[in-house]
Amino acid sequence: MYEDLKGKTALVTGGSSGIGKAIVKRYHEEGMNVMFTYHSGDDEANEIVDELNDGSGASVATMKCDVTEEQEVVDAVRQTIEKFGGLDVMVNNAGIQKDVPSHELSVDEFDKVINTNLRGTFIGAREALKHYLDTDKKGSIINISSVHEIIPWPHYAHYTASKGGVKLLTQSLALEYSGLGIRVNNIAPGSVNTPINEEFFSTPEEKEGADDFVPMGYVAEPEHISNIAAFMASEQSVYITGQTIVADGGLSLYPSHKNPEYD
Ligand code: NAP
Repeated sequence: MYEDLKGKTALVTGGSSGIGKAIVKRYHEEGMNVMFTYHSGDDEANEIVDELNDGSGASVATMKCDVTEEQEVVDAVRQTIEKFGGLDVMVNNAGIQKDVPSHELSVDEFDKVINTNLRGTFIGAREALKHYLDTDKKGSIINISSVHEIIPWPHYAHYTASKGGVKLLTQSLALEYSGLGIRVNNIAPGSVNTPINEEFFSTPEEKEGADDFVPMGYVAEPEHISNIAAFMASEQSVYITGQTIVADGGLSLYPSHKNPEYD
């Protein structure tokens, strides 16, 4: 637990599912007020709000937001500030991926992934930065990128381009505002057991194959990532900016060179 997080406010995009949902729950456990957005999963979002608003003090709210629509992201940041009196941690988590051979990839499909994963992250970061500058706040921005900010992935060129873009966006923003104590970082998950990967884990055999593919021998659960999001939001990470924390069970370590002795 991170005592300094108690009473702070976070906005998490795409918090109705998977990694975002785990971050919402973890921040709530830390005593933070949390606004999270959903895109299509309104039932799921309302269930989370009902479950977490148990009278324990910290408050959780949700709103619909399509991060490809600039005004909706602007409104999400504004409504968070109005509801909770400010914003301390902006988590740009919303993201999509789609398997398409690159020679068949339409410009519309390319744009959709870039606009969600990269442009949406930029808009969220920009709006948080405006608030941090207006209020002289040493706020934090945490982007959920991916190991595919560094590892190429056939059929997912649009996804890897978006995540590679997030990496350099993060570094540029971090450097630009470092003198003000504003921190901008990435968390880069490897393979995580969430709905985005449903197609890879739909049978026990496929899940086992996915586990075996990871050098540490298992796919992550969303909590492996939300633990890092708590650390990255807290003052314990105050000297870290412009960095990517890779949480991938060793996927980025050339798995084909793994030591067969410990397989
Ligand atoms: P997920 O369970 O599918 O969650 C994705 C979230 O993004 C959902 O809440 C979804 O909302 C939201 N979303 C999708 N399109 C949106 C849009 N246009 N506007 C606003 N929200 C939108 O997947 P996840 O695994 O938790 O993914 C979260 C992030 O982690 C993504 O950025 C993903 O690229 C990254 N990541 C995941 C993995 C992994 O293995 N799972 C690995 C590396 C990186 P609705 O459900 O309401 O539509």
